[in-house]
Amino acid sequence: MTDDLLGLAKAHLYPNYRPAPFVLTRGEGMHVWDTEGRRYLDMCAGVAVTALGHAHPAFVRAVSEQLTRLGHVSNYFYNDVNVTLAAALCARTGLARAFFCNSGAEANEALLKLARRHHHAKGDATRTRIVAFEASFHGRTMGALALTGQPKYREGFGPGVGGVTHVPYGDLVAVRAAMGPDVAAILAEPVQGEGGVLPAPSGFLAGLRALADEHGALLLLDEVQTGVGRCGTFLGSEVDGVRADAIALAKGLGGGFPIGAMLTTEALAAALPPGTHGSTFGGNPLASAAALAVLRTLDDERLIARAAETGRYLGEKLALLAAELPDKIVEERGRGLLRALVLRGSRDLRALLEALRNRGLLLTVAGATALRFTPPLIAGREHVDEAVTIVREVLREEPSA
Ligand SMILES: *Cc1c(COP(=O)(O)O)cnc(C)c1O
Repeated sequence: MTDDLLGLAKAHLYPNYRPAPFVLTRGEGMHVWDTEGRRYLDMCAGVAVTALGHAHPAFVRAVSEQLTRLGHVSNYFYNDVNVTLAAALCARTGLARAFFCNSGAEANEALLKLARRHHHAKGDATRTRIVAFEASFHGRTMGALALTGQPKYREGFGPGVGGVTHVPYGDLVAVRAAMGPDVAAILAEPVQGEGGVLPAPSGFLAGLRALADEHGALLLLDEVQTGVGRCGTFLGSEVDGVRADAIALAKGLGGGFPIGAMLTTEALAAALPPGTHGSTFGGNPLASAAALAVLRTLDDERLIARAAETGRYLGEKLALLAAELPDKIVEERGRGLLRALVLRGSRDLRALLEALRNRGLLLTVAGATALRFTPPLIAGREHVDEAVTIVREVLREEPSA
């Protein structure tokens, strides 16, 4: 059966990915199983998505029950779960308005359109430029690609959306120099995820807030990877106590069900009037029920506090490992359950991921040199111990670089 499925995949899936050579069929809690019955410890959570782990009973119940009641109605009509979700997200973030879409890239597209249209609506149509950051990642659509500060993702796709200036992350002097009367917004991740798990230096987000205010620009935060508890707080930006004008959420929000959201202040409610933006699937009852189940379970099981605590423990364990293998590891970094082990020198990270998989551990990479840990928020110390033990074994066994 496995060979048949792998054959079909090779023949018919569009080959824009390089998936591992096995086929997953089942998941429960912190583990997934392949067609051969092999079990893997899931420390990547589908790239920071399955916050409740796999097949969490409360999540399964909520989504299944919703499907028996109402699955899709379109935005011609309100639906009860979506309205409830909007209110719940606003209550948690202090923002006032929620727009729903289906992915992180779409949430960032909405931020981009919001920023330009906001100034346009105020009669300042020259304010179109966005100041964003080198090494950032905001998604794969043409707008999100333009915001992304990694030219490799844009190669061959030009001409792209213009009007984006990228400056070094963490460098307020460079941000100040990039500001001007044509800047519509500053856009930043509270921790750069795909770029290598780089947390904003202390005070950086507050500095962005001040610069945006000083120059009449909006502060937009891409919380697609950092949001919904991953950093040990509901939003990654809470460490600096910063309130953005608008944020993007996706990944962890639906616990594995596709959903994205843009949340804005009340002051931005007039920027995208009826007819200016939309999404057929956005805000549908099924996705909304999934996200509501995630939010409720985060509370019921105190999972955000758990993410902070397990994240601290993971950070300690990775720091010890870095001290033990200084010839292989540069450092440990991250926040909450968004962490990375930065490896020394140039190496084949794909081969390393494969060696880890062969020992039953699923991880991903971030940037060119980092092993990334983004486990479900239900992870405990025992999972951290098991994962770090496997990473230690594999790194010790490989020939020195
Ligand atoms: C993953 C990610 C995106 C893109 O999300 P998609 O759902 O893949 O479109 C955007 N921004 C950040 C910070 C991300 O980590």
